[in-house]
Amino acid sequence: MVHVTRIVIIGGGPGGYEAALVASRLGAEVVLVEREGVGGASVLTDCVPSKTLIATADVMSSFESAEELGIRIGGVSLGGSCVTGVNLDRVNRRVKNLASAQSVDIAESLAKAGVQIVKGRGRLTPDRQVEVDLPDGTVALYHADVILLATGVRPREVAEAMPDGERILNWKQVYNLKELPPELIVVGSGVTGAEFAGAYQALGSAVTLVSSRDRVLPGEDADAAEVLESVFRRRGMRVLSRSRAASAVRDGDRVIVTLEDGRTVEGSHVLMAVGSLPNTEDLGLEEAGVELTKTGHIDVDRVSRSTSAPGVYAAGDVTGVLLLASVAAMQGRIAMYHALGEAVWPINLKRVSSNIFTSPEVATVGQTNANAHHDSPGFNEYKLALDSNPRAKMLDFKDGFVKLFSRKGSDTIVGGVIVAPRASELIHPITMAVDLHLTVDQVASVFTVYPSLSGSIAEAARRLHADVKDED
Ligand SMILES: Cc1cc2nc3c(=O)[nH]c(=O)nc-3n(C[C@H](O)[C@H](O)[C@H](O)COP(=O)(O)OP(=O)(O)OC[C@H]3O[C@@H](n4cnc5c(N)ncnc54)[C@H](O)[C@@H]3O)c2cc1C
Repeated sequence: MVHVTRIVIIGGGPGGYEAALVASRLGAEVVLVEREGVGGASVLTDCVPSKTLIATADVMSSFESAEELGIRIGGVSLGGSCVTGVNLDRVNRRVKNLASAQSVDIAESLAKAGVQIVKGRGRLTPDRQVEVDLPDGTVALYHADVILLATGVRPREVAEAMPDGERILNWKQVYNLKELPPELIVVGSGVTGAEFAGAYQALGSAVTLVSSRDRVLPGEDADAAEVLESVFRRRGMRVLSRSRAASAVRDGDRVIVTLEDGRTVEGSHVLMAVGSLPNTEDLGLEEAGVELTKTGHIDVDRVSRSTSAPGVYAAGDVTGVLLLASVAAMQGRIAMYHALGEAVWPINLKRVSSNIFTSPEVATVGQTNANAHHDSPGFNEYKLALDSNPRAKMLDFKDGFVKLFSRKGSDTIVGGVIVAPRASELIHPITMAVDLHLTVDQVASVFTVYPSLSGSIAEAARRLHADVKDED
């Protein structure tokens, strides 16, 4: 009799659902346990909703250049109506509808692929089976040859600034707002804080960004962070650097954020974006022998295997490897390829491209100043400002650049940073160059459309080539 591998996955986000699709295509019997909704936090509350909100914010930001481009706003009808602001209730309804529709699409694909979806809260038993608390109060036991844990993370909460869902909010609660916050305080200037601060400012809120660090986007390319912070300030955002929030309290329809040095900041709403914690509690991990890292994430190797419990794999944010939907999905796929005996390439984080959806966007791949020493002897770099790019001039876009990194000796492209509108799309050729080990010369000699922002990628490569030659 042919043995069919039975795989039980806990968590239906990209780490879990992508793995389920791959495993079932490979002939496994797959059960996916999800307590809230298929698509996970990624689809229902985090990635998809925030990017949908930002789509509206992007259109609003584009009006910044309206006057320069000769567009009259106010008296002129745009698509049948004058632009006078944003109806946040409508924006949020669209956000939620789109998220639920995507969740339904994913559930349908899973069902079509033969994956059994079980609604409930899953946990490991000590002998590494999966027990599920079902909505009707009963408990079901699922036998598993292989288990994948993809339970994600949740917003970190600060006891002195607990979200109330009305005026003190975390990033999952903002979509319940019916009206635009007139004065929004965003606490936290990492990717999530920066994206929401930029979006709400574009939508029309007066935004104060409270950052505990010297600059916004700590941990990202310093030149990119500098551009973004100066754009934020130019548009009127109040950015409080080196200011750590100690508490946030409500006072009627106001919120007061007190900083550690005693200063206070007042607004109508506050959004707490101070990081996340892995969903590892009540999962039976200790009893099943699944070890955690020092940060409390599930410890995995590069093929997503738990480093301590045979037959257990983990993927996505709960591993703390890189908190990105694309990485979660890749870890999930790799886990299944490995578990089911397929050829597999261990995950290579040096090839991951990511994007910060601010205006302008900040896209990054591979080696950058943020993950290497600035003066590392192993790399050359060239930064080309976009204000000389003809397409950028036509679009009245002045803030941004293309930066390329190449390895000394081999002259292969190892990384890049782009700050530009739609940088998320522009980074792809650099990602391909990194992935395929293309040389600076190869990238420099590829045709680009004239006029185009991507022309600056080839131009940066030409200048990097010339710089290297000058050094020789
Ligand atoms: C505001 C925001 C914006 C983001 N934007 C982007 C972006 O633009 N691009 C990008 O690549 N990434 C983005 N991310 C990151 C991205 O959302 C995560 O990397 C991604 O969701 C990780 O997927 P996952 O499968 O690990 O977990 P999740 O998507 O969090 O899914 C985990 C699922 O597990 C379920 N679960 C947990 N415990 C149990 C249990 N015991 N039993 C059953 N089910 C359980 C949860 O209900 C949840 O549905 C963003 C994150 C945030 C916070």
